[in-house]
Amino acid sequence: MTNDELWNATLGELELSLSRANFTTWFKNTFIVSREGDKVVIGVPNTFTKTWFENKYHGAILKAMQHITDPPIKAIEYTVSARQAAKVASSVAPGDKVQIHKESTEITPRRVVEVDGSLEPKYTFENFVVGTGNELAHAACKAVTINPGKIYNPLFLYGGSGLGKTHLIQAIGAEFKKKNPGMNVLYVTCEKFTNDFIQAITRGSIDNFKKTYRSVDCLLIDDIQFLAGKEGTQEEFFHTFNALHQSHRQIVLTSDRPPKAIPALENRLVSRFEWGMMADLQQPNLETRIAILDSKCIERSFTLTPDIVQFIATAIQSNVRELEGALNRIAAYQQLNNIPPTLVSVKELLASVTHQQKRNGAITVKQILNTVASFFELSMEDLKGASRKKELVVPRQISMYLLREDAKSSYPTIGQELGGRDHTTAIHAFEKMKDAVEHDEKIRDDINLIRQRLYANRG
Ligand code: ADP
Ligand code: MG
Repeated sequence: MTNDELWNATLGELELSLSRANFTTWFKNTFIVSREGDKVVIGVPNTFTKTWFENKYHGAILKAMQHITDPPIKAIEYTVSARQAAKVASSVAPGDKVQIHKESTEITPRRVVEVDGSLEPKYTFENFVVGTGNELAHAACKAVTINPGKIYNPLFLYGGSGLGKTHLIQAIGAEFKKKNPGMNVLYVTCEKFTNDFIQAITRGSIDNFKKTYRSVDCLLIDDIQFLAGKEGTQEEFFHTFNALHQSHRQIVLTSDRPPKAIPALENRLVSRFEWGMMADLQQPNLETRIAILDSKCIERSFTLTPDIVQFIATAIQSNVRELEGALNRIAAYQQLNNIPPTLVSVKELLASVTHQQKRNGAITVKQILNTVASFFELSMEDLKGASRKKELVVPRQISMYLLREDAKSSYPTIGQELGGRDHTTAIHAFEKMKDAVEHDEKIRDDINLIRQRLYANRG
């Protein structure tokens, strides 16, 4: 990891815990001056900032950095230092026209992002198998490539891990590039967007950042749920979104859950994400899983007998990535031993996967409570505690509902598990959520997503 990468990652962590105003005020024009062994020196623009960092932010900075480094950094010092302006001159050939922004501390003029640099050629529409669970999302993606910026803007794809979100969003990018080679298509992960933004702030190159992101014809952002809690980045993304949307540029976003279920996401972003089209990806059924396996076998020029394909598709249900993983293991086995796999050898090879599924046959109380708590980003104490705040009551009631429905726990047990409550409280919560599943879209979505995670994590 370079010093800049380390500092950007640290800022990414810090941004989560600081208000935007504080963040921008204090972390502008800071950087790592040197790193030797377990000691880091951070350059700050003036003594005032130095004192603040030493007295107020030292603990947080050290902790954030220790998260990221291995072996962890032990000591941090602060020094007043600006990036050398002289270097700017030396890296530029005479006669080169360079625009240096007034407050820029950038060493060399550089593009903030690589346009289209990270599209993977293997993600295309041609090798995406359409079946139950992904039909709608696939159709929406196709429609966007035919009529960009017009019908579905933004297009918001969501669904559990390994169900094809990245594949589809990149296929859109690839299709645009194929049809209109001059089109300015930008694919980034939400993490990259965040890092680029933080880097632009710390280097004072925010104009450059804006120019890059607001001049694209199509912006594809993967895993937008990572905007959760990042106020500063959300604000910037809001303006980027508006600028692009107003000029009818296509925006496509993916997420592991619908906009309303992303915690700590500003309302104005939630409503914008819902403006266009939302399409979800669900687990594929058996026929689709078989079709996907067949298609992946053809891609790899690899033959498996139908009984083996049937076995894999039955053993692995929740996630296409794992289907591929199984196939890779079998392919490696074949190469190594130079004999075609048999049903017996495949069963042995995948024993650990199938065994785990069997062992986890019944959902446990602990799994439910952990999944609900992590979904709503609550601590276990809060989930089980006495507070009657709405943000806690609903997750608590959802837990009780799932304990009854999915773990078949008795009402007294449920009350006991949720902080020693009475069994009548558990009955009331169950009845209330049963009704909400019918009539309250948000709660229904949340429960579906929690179940997806609950069952997906067991494979
Ligand atoms: P996500 O981004 O939703 O976590 P990915 O798009 O990374 O999932 O998909 C995981 C893997 O499964 C990728 O290698 C992808 O190509 C493959 N995959 C998912 N769905 C399909 C599908 N319908 N047809 C072919 N491959 C698929
Ligand atoms: Mg993905």
